[in-house]
Amino acid sequence: MKIGFIGLGNMGAPMARNLLAAGHVVTGFDPAASPKGIPMAASASAAASGADVVITMLPNGDILKSVAQDIHPHMPPRTVHLDCSTVDVESARAVAQAATEAGLSAVDAPVSGGVGGATLGTLTFMAGGPEAAFEAVLPLLGVMGQRAVFCGAAGNGQAAKICNNMILGITMIGTCEAFALADKLGLDRQAMFDVVSTSSGSSWSMNSYCPAPGIGPESPADNGYRPGFAADLMLKDLRLAQAAAAAADADTPLGQHAQDLYARFVEEEDGAGRDFSAMLPRFEKRGRGD
Ligand code: NAD
Repeated sequence: MKIGFIGLGNMGAPMARNLLAAGHVVTGFDPAASPKGIPMAASASAAASGADVVITMLPNGDILKSVAQDIHPHMPPRTVHLDCSTVDVESARAVAQAATEAGLSAVDAPVSGGVGGATLGTLTFMAGGPEAAFEAVLPLLGVMGQRAVFCGAAGNGQAAKICNNMILGITMIGTCEAFALADKLGLDRQAMFDVVSTSSGSSWSMNSYCPAPGIGPESPADNGYRPGFAADLMLKDLRLAQAAAAAADADTPLGQHAQDLYARFVEEEDGAGRDFSAMLPRFEKRGRGD
């Protein structure tokens, strides 16, 4: 396929490289990056014109909406705008509406898997939009990832992503505070892991991404809490979840609390640039009054 790829940062560049390696014709655009080996156009609209599919991988919903406004008039009729960024549900739905009005289709397909998954082509996509458009881009999702789940109407990919990451933020905090409590009660961390990972307190945070160094499978905790999945990105996703919850009048007290804790960690403490599991050393050094 002929693909326009807009936004070639940490995630977009390796995704575009995998599409090129699979034999697709890719033309990229990014105002601030010119990654090696990816043919570039001089503007977003030039990258989009004549493309069968335009993929965007951008920082936020406002930038996505402004790029969509630029590119939609240049995309051939009935082609697909595939957005893989993590953005707010409302922006995703606004872009889908704009695409429909321009005679195009939009699919929101945010990813889980991070830079490692983007490089290896093992991302998971969660997609919203018209099912026919999802089917049309499925071969591309198969190159960039190993799993794609169709979640229904426009915006539902973003909805799935923020619900998943809200659970992840909450369970990571719960796992970290439980380890800090276990330490203070004199319970050995390995014993704690052996019990919880095979009991009803188990979760992905404990079993697959254990925040305690030297315990469980290898994780960022074993690498000085280098991300991995940065606390800053977890904070972004928790804020998107709270914005969506406010708009939908959903009661999400633990999601709110997780957002507040990650905001403090990233903006006032030492969490910026560290993995989101570095909540454990944060709790370790605190008492109830801190
Ligand atoms: P990044 O900041 O490395 O890349 C974003 C790119 O978009 C940058 O190169 C920037 O120059 C470009 N850009 C900004 N404005 C633009 C415009 N108007 N036109 C074209 N390009 C523009 O970010 P990233 O880590 O690649 O993340 C991209 C998206 O993927 C984000 O929405 C992020 O939340 C999501 N995501 C990231 C990860 C991760 O681990 N990095 C994991 C899952 C999802």
